[in-house]
Formats: sequence, structure tokens, C-alpha cells
Amino acid sequence: MNFLSQLTGSFAQPCAENPTVAMIEAAYRHHELEWRYINCEVAPDDLGDAVRGARAMGWAGFNCSIPHKVAVVEFLDGLGKSAEVIGAVNCAVLRDGKLIGENTDGKGFVQSLRESVDPKDKTIVMFGAGGAARAIGVESALSGAKKITVVNRSEERGNAVVSLLNEKTATNAEFVRWDGDFQIPAGTDIVINATSIGLFPDVDACLALDMNTLTSGMVVADVIPNPPETRLIREARQIGCTVIDGLGMLVNQGVIGIKYWSGRDVDPTVMRTKLEEIFDVTTE
Ligand code: NDP
Repeated sequence: MNFLSQLTGSFAQPCAENPTVAMIEAAYRHHELEWRYINCEVAPDDLGDAVRGARAMGWAGFNCSIPHKVAVVEFLDGLGKSAEVIGAVNCAVLRDGKLIGENTDGKGFVQSLRESVDPKDKTIVMFGAGGAARAIGVESALSGAKKITVVNRSEERGNAVVSLLNEKTATNAEFVRWDGDFQIPAGTDIVINATSIGLFPDVDACLALDMNTLTSGMVVADVIPNPPETRLIREARQIGCTVIDGLGMLVNQGVIGIKYWSGRDVDPTVMRTKLEEIFDVTTE
């Protein structure tokens, strides 16, 4: 008999709308793991106490989301490579008694990308320069992407991501200010929406992008998990592009997190099905 569960969870504010708990617990149940994932509302001033609480209770690790991804670093014992380069942690892992900060956002994205294309030696156009873009840009660069063009509305944030990529990785990054309909250059392999455009409730929003410059050989990936079928995904599919929706990134960062915490490889399909149920979608 064992009445003691291994604990994991998430610290964020707000946290009530984050579906990660449902997805992770679906995997724990499917694989008959005696594990729990607890979604915790943690205010910025309480983050240190929350981390100390997790340590005291022997948690195997935890995710952190807005607004804790950068602030949590000071309460941890070390950082993995991607988290160090990105400067943000979304997954803490207890290893040999030490809490190590990892970043699985970009890794989850690249893993879902790899189901269609390997980013190595590829030319990428990425819209956005926020937290998600930073993680995706760094991880794509660390995976060998040849060139990354960062297209962003704010020049300051765009330039910051480009400098980070050029200084800390071997990719060739350039910034283009997003001003009117962007034309995807011929020769681009992968187009990524890493902005929040298209996120519920603004479901009809679409990127300022000349859709005539997308070609069927391109892979188009969107980070928006809700709804997974964004206008960009729908229109790119009609053109014949290979499309990757935001559920892929969400599921795979969960798969990687569970692997870090438990050492177990879990079935991504179970997690995706749970999210599709939650978002009430049937993908084509
Ligand atoms: P940030 O707020 O850090 O960045 C938002 C980005 O979107 C900025 O580059 C911003 O540009 C751009 N943007 C927003 N609105 C517009 C607009 N109307 N026109 C042009 N650019 C715009 O957010 P995050 O990077 O943290 O998150 C971005 C998205 O990624 C969210 O929707 C989130 O749901 C999703 N996400 C998905 C994950 C998944 O697992 N699928 C994981 C993490 C995030 P500017 O700099 O000019 O303001």
C-alpha cells in the first residue's frame, strides 16, 4: 500500500484558466503514475515562500508561468543551458536535492516542429519578440537553424531578441520592423507566429502578412493554443503548407516536463486528446 503521491504543480497568477493541470494529470492517470499536479495561484510577493514550500514538501518540480518566469531564478540552485540563454524558467526540476531551472517552452515547440521538419540549417521567419518568441528563437538556434528573421512591431523588443540570438548562439539573426503586410522572402523554410495574435477571444485576428507569399513547401507554425485552429493555420493549410498548431508546443513541453520530473516518457496523444476536449475542437 502507498498513500503518498509524488507532487508537482504550477505557480502563476492568474492560474485558473491554465489547462496544463488537466493535460498533465491525464498523462499521470493513463500511465498509472501515483503523481499529482497542483495548479497554485501564487502572487509575486509569495513566490519565494511557494518555492520553499515545494522544497519542504519534496515536490519533484513545478512549472512557473506569468509573472514568475524570470523572478523564480533567484530561488533556484542552478539553470539548464536553454534557461540560462533565454533568461527565463518555466520548469523547475529537483535533481540530487537541487532545484534546477529549465525552459521547456522552446524545447516543446521544437519537438512539435520536428514531427514535420528538422530546424537544422533551415531559414526561419518568426513573428513576435516576447517571452514565447525568445524561447522559440533560442531553441531553434540551438537546434541549428541557419537564419532567423525576427519580425516585430516594437523595435526595442525585436532588437533585443536578435542581439541575444547573435551573441549567444551560432545562428544568423536579423530584425525587420513589422510595418504593413509582411512579405515572406522566397527560400524561407519555416514561418512561425510567436505573437499573441489570434488568441481567444480575438479569434478572427490574423497577422499582417501577404498570404500570396506563402508557398506549399513552407511549414507554418502557430503558438496559439486556444483556439488551435487559428486563421493563420486555416489559411496556410488551404495554400498547401504543412501546418503545426499551438497544442503541439503545449503538449510537448508537458511531455518534457514529466520526463524531467519522473524520468518517464508519456504518451503525447493522451494529453492532446484532453486539450482537444477542453477546447472543444476536432482537428482535420
Ligand atoms: P508577450 O506579451 O511576451 O509577447 C507578445 C508578442 O506579440 C510581442 O512580440 C508583441 O509585439 C506581439 N503582439 C501582440 N499583439 C500584437 C499585434 N496586435 N500586432 C503585432 N504584434 C503583436 O507574450 P508571450 O510571448 O508570453 O506569449 C505570446 C503567445 O504565445 C500567447 O498568446 C501565448 O498564449 C502563447 N504561448 C503558447 C504556448 C504554448 O505552449 N502553445 C506557450 C507560451 C506562450 P510587441 O513587442 O510589439 O508588443
